Amino acid sequence: MEHTEVVVGAVVGKVTCMGLGLMGSALARCFVRHGHNVTVWNRQPEKRKAFEGRAKIASTPAEACAASDLIIVCVSTYDASESFLHTPEVAEAAKGKTIVQFTSGSSLDARKGAEWARGHGVHYLDACVLGYPSDVDADNGWFFFSGPRALFDKHASVLKTMSGSVTFVGEPVGCAAALDSALLETYYMATIGLLHAASICRSEGMELDHFFNAVADFVPLIGTTAEVARKQIASGNYKGAEATLDVHVAAQEHIVTVSRANGIDLSVPEFVIDRCKRAIAAGYGPHEISAVYETFRK
Ligand code: NAP
Repeated sequence: MEHTEVVVGAVVGKVTCMGLGLMGSALARCFVRHGHNVTVWNRQPEKRKAFEGRAKIASTPAEACAASDLIIVCVSTYDASESFLHTPEVAEAAKGKTIVQFTSGSSLDARKGAEWARGHGVHYLDACVLGYPSDVDADNGWFFFSGPRALFDKHASVLKTMSGSVTFVGEPVGCAAALDSALLETYYMATIGLLHAASICRSEGMELDHFFNAVADFVPLIGTTAEVARKQIASGNYKGAEATLDVHVAAQEHIVTVSRANGIDLSVPEFVIDRCKRAIAAGYGPHEISAVYETFRK
């Protein structure tokens, strides 16, 4: 949903938004809506036009950085952002100001960005948004920040206008990107499992509605498992009273068997069973499934 009205009574600051694609323009519209003094810049001038009369339009990256103490960057890739940020003019204009890098990337990208900023006297926070542009300013998305805590605190009142779930996740600058990757991995692994599972049901002639109806009730079990894993990983004690890894592997053998019998690709269940068998080989057979965590650490 696109908001156009201005929120009265919000904390107001000066914000520059660089990159006005789908996500960048949603962030910029949010800051405009909350009454901030917004300056925008986009490589292609057409996208700047939508902000005429609502924000200041900068014609160069350096002009955009000079306009505000808080500079939000949201473009396709870190390479793209480096192409206009890593210039002597921008370094000079951004000196002593804060760049918040919303462009998606890895923790390594975040460290590289922070290093450049440090070398040029620019303050730096790395940020991730987990959600769609429609989730900005709608209390649905998650916004993670990492870098110096004091820097986050300094800008928190402005950043919090984006959503109710603006969260600082650690001083190591790679933390925000790591959490983004971790949650996306959880999502993708579960989704691939879900789609493979649907193919098993279909291969046995079952109406998929039965599967999808059951999935809605079954998925919260992952949250329950996560809570158990949180405690067991923290204590290093994987003993429990629910199900041993040996029992889990026996259940997984049925998934492999039915997949093989019905000509379904085996790579997904074989990957899962392989991870559990490694934990059993390490002596965790009588322990609970969270023990598999120990086999990932090198
Ligand atoms: P988008 O709609 O494709 O927009 C891309 C933006 O990047 C445009 O402003 C584009 O400028 C700019 N850009 C690309 N290459 C550039 C370059 N070499 N120099 C300067 N600007 C350049 O993408 P988006 O959806 O806004 O995504 C932006 C970032 O947010 C990405 O890192 C994405 O992963 C992340 N994100 C997006 C979503 C989502 O649902 N959309 C969700 C979470 C995170 P031009 O207009 O000049 O081409």
